[in-house]
Parts: sequence; C-alpha cells; structure tokens
Amino acid sequence: MAAVSSSKPRPTAGADAVIVGAGLSGLTVALALAEAGLSCIVVDRMDPRDARVYRNDIRTTAISLSSRRMLTALGAWQAVADEAEPILDIRVSDAGSRRDLHYDHATVGDEPMGHIVDNGALKASLLACIARHGDRIAFADPGSASALSVTASRASLTLEDGRVLSAPLVIAADGRLSRVRALAGIRHTTTDYGQTAIVDTISHTESHLNTAHERFQPGGPLALLPLSGNRSALVWSERSAVAERIARLDDAAFSAALEERFGDSLGTLTPVGPRRTYPLSLVVAESSIADRVALVGDAAHAIHPIAGQGFNLGLRDVAALAEVLADSARLGLDIGAATVLRDYQRRRRFDVMTLVASTDGLNRLFSNDIGPIKAVRRLGLSVVERVPPLKRAAIRHAMGTLGTLPRLLRGEPV
Ligand SMILES: Cc1cc2nc3c(=O)[nH]c(=O)nc-3n(C[C@H](O)[C@H](O)[C@H](O)COP(=O)(O)OP(=O)(O)OC[C@H]3O[C@@H](n4cnc5c(N)ncnc54)[C@H](O)[C@@H]3O)c2cc1C
Repeated sequence: MAAVSSSKPRPTAGADAVIVGAGLSGLTVALALAEAGLSCIVVDRMDPRDARVYRNDIRTTAISLSSRRMLTALGAWQAVADEAEPILDIRVSDAGSRRDLHYDHATVGDEPMGHIVDNGALKASLLACIARHGDRIAFADPGSASALSVTASRASLTLEDGRVLSAPLVIAADGRLSRVRALAGIRHTTTDYGQTAIVDTISHTESHLNTAHERFQPGGPLALLPLSGNRSALVWSERSAVAERIARLDDAAFSAALEERFGDSLGTLTPVGPRRTYPLSLVVAESSIADRVALVGDAAHAIHPIAGQGFNLGLRDVAALAEVLADSARLGLDIGAATVLRDYQRRRRFDVMTLVASTDGLNRLFSNDIGPIKAVRRLGLSVVERVPPLKRAAIRHAMGTLGTLPRLLRGEPV
C-alpha cells in the first residue's frame, strides 16, 4: 500500500482501518492487524518514524510475561530482548514499616514476572516490524484529527488540513486526551490525582538482584525497577508541588532526597538522567466503542503507574481487538459492524474495570499518613504475604496470565 501524502491525497478505499495515534498502542495494533492480514493507515500528529519523536519518550515500561509473549508473537520482542532486564522478585513496602511483601517468580514457575524495557527501543522495534509490512501498513503524513463522520459502511476522519481518511473502522489510539473519543461522542471521566511522577535513571553501588522495589509513602508510591548493570528506572510519585520542587534539585540534593525515602538497600544512589515529570490522572472512557470506532490503550483508560500496568492493559485491548477483527474478517463479516465491536467491548470490560479500580484503590489506600488506614494496609500486606493462594494470584495478575487470554497474549499468532 502506498504512503498517503498531504500534497496529493490518495484514495484510502482499500484500507480496513484508520488508526489514529502511533504511540505504543497504535503501533502495536497496526502490527497485529497486519499479522492478521488486515490493512491500515496510521496517522499521528507527529511523524512516529522520526527518531527524535520516539526517542523523546525517555520512560521505561514494565512488560508483563503475557505482554512479552504477545510482542514475541508479533516479532517485536526479539530486537529488545538483549537489553530488557528481567524482574525476578518484587518487594513491596510501606514507608516506616520494616516488613515487606515479597513476590518471587519461582512461586509460580521459571519465567521472569516481567521485563523492564526502554520505550524508545520498543517503539524502534515496532517500527522495524511495521516496515516489513509495507504492503499492509501505510503512514499518512502527520496530521491531527478534527472531524469524524460515519455512514452505514464507513467511517471518515477529516484531519485539520482537510485530508480525509476513510475505512470501515477507525481505531483511536490517540492517548488519554483522545480527540477521536470526543469526536465519536464517547464520554469520559477524569480524576486528577494531584500527584506527579518523577522519572529518572538511577545508578547504584549495590546490585538490584533483578528485584523491582515499590515503596509506598504518604505522597505517593516510589518504584525502582531493574535495568542492565547496577542501574534502576525510577518512577517516584509525589504530591505535584513537592514533585516539581524535587525534580528541580541538583543531582546531589536529589540523591539525598531519594536515599531518605528509599533507604540504603541499593547502596549509594546517583541520578544519571534525563529527568522528567508526568502529572498523573485517571481517565476512563464510558465506552470503548462507538459507531465504527474502537478505542485502545490510554484513549480508553489511562491509569496510575502504581502497578506498572497501563501499557500492559493497552496491549490486552490490542490483543482482544485484533482477535475479534481477524475472526470476523475470516468469516467475511464487516469488521466495523456493531456486533463485532460489541464483542470487543464485552471481552475487555471486566479486565479494564478491575485494573482501574485496583490501581485507583491502591493509590488511595497507600498515599496517606492516616493511622487507622496505615494499620489496615499493613494488615493487608501481611495477609497477602502469608496466604500462598492469594500471593500466587497476585503474582499471576502482575504477570498478566490470569483468566482467559486472547491468542496473542498466549504467544500464538493472531
Ligand atoms: C510515569 C509513567 C510510568 C509508566 N510505567 C508503565 C509501566 O511500567 N508499565 C506499563 O504497562 N505502563 C506504564 N505506563 C503507562 C504507559 O506509558 C501508557 O499506558 C502508554 O504509553 C500509552 O500508550 P498509548 O499509545 O495508548 O498512548 P500515548 O503514548 O499517549 O500515544 C498517543 C499517540 O497519539 C498521538 N495523538 C494524540 N492526539 C492526536 C490527534 N488529535 N491526532 C493524531 N494523533 C494524536 C500522540 O502524538 C501519540 O503519539 C506509565 C505511565 C507513566 C506516566
């Protein structure tokens, strides 16, 4: 399929779907559709193939076991596998308490619970896979969605420069502020957490032993996630005013503030940057579908990074949507039909609501210094620590292997 050019608009009649947004979710859904034999046009307001764009995302992502299986099945894991750092243990603690909750991967098998991957590297790998599907995936020149219209058989997306992209289905992967979601008339709720996450890379003198640490403190959770060598990725949530002040500290003062919160189990902590802040809010769409429109990833639900599950949840959308669309196309059905999209929504509702509620609840439970609440949460941590079935379920949940999974998440072709 030829690339769509802004100077010479080309007919888009042949594409099965228009994907708006080429972040991690949009790139993955494009690849999954191509693997299923479907074609798509991807449009983003910035050129996703420009390394300055995708390398600008300095974050890392905790990829769960089922997400890794899916990325492997799509051919996108192999290029990041060597630099991805396995998570073998997770230690969860409450500031001020010496007890912690210890998840050991060996409790449920041999596989690591997950891996920490650099977002820029993962996007580069997805783009390399997409490049091999030039016949099925086309990138439109950068543009922003401005209007959406739907007929009995097609959805047409008008971009701000007047270009029109049309297909039986529009997939919104345009993030938490999704314009397509608004254009499709899907309402959403936004809850400002009043917290901001500080992201940095930390070098330390002691080995992390492939352990991910999560320390709950009154201002918000602080996570140190293992990277190659003696380095960890820091995701430190604090009340926004405090976070902005901490983020501006020089390296020595930043280290001191971090060591005061985290302690010395990893030795001396040195920030090796870059350092960025991300204001945190919960965004939940009231529906993940509308006429000839499906939402995936943060466009459907943007959650607190407390459990490192936002993109994993988005990948589960992508896996379910790709499976529903692939099966429908094989039966010769219209992939944008309401029955097909309702099937997608039905498959996703429980998982999304469970994770929205649990991440939101955990953050509220742990981000405070109220005595009775502290006692309840410490009791909760010690119960999970001491009741093996609960612990195994929590580990499997973190690994993304609970419940009935779509083919891609089991590592099978779509
Ligand atoms: C600090 C932090 C740490 C995190 N850590 C983890 C983790 O460890 N594990 C995990 O699973 N998740 C994690 N997450 C969540 C994860 O980063 C997100 O869920 C994921 O990046 C969402 O990807 P997306 O593609 O859905 O949306 P986005 O990354 O927001 O991409 C949206 C794309 O749409 C484009 N776009 C937007 N509007 C328009 C428009 N009008 N027209 C055209 N294009 C448009 C944008 O340019 C962008 O490319 C973390 C999040 C934060 C904030």
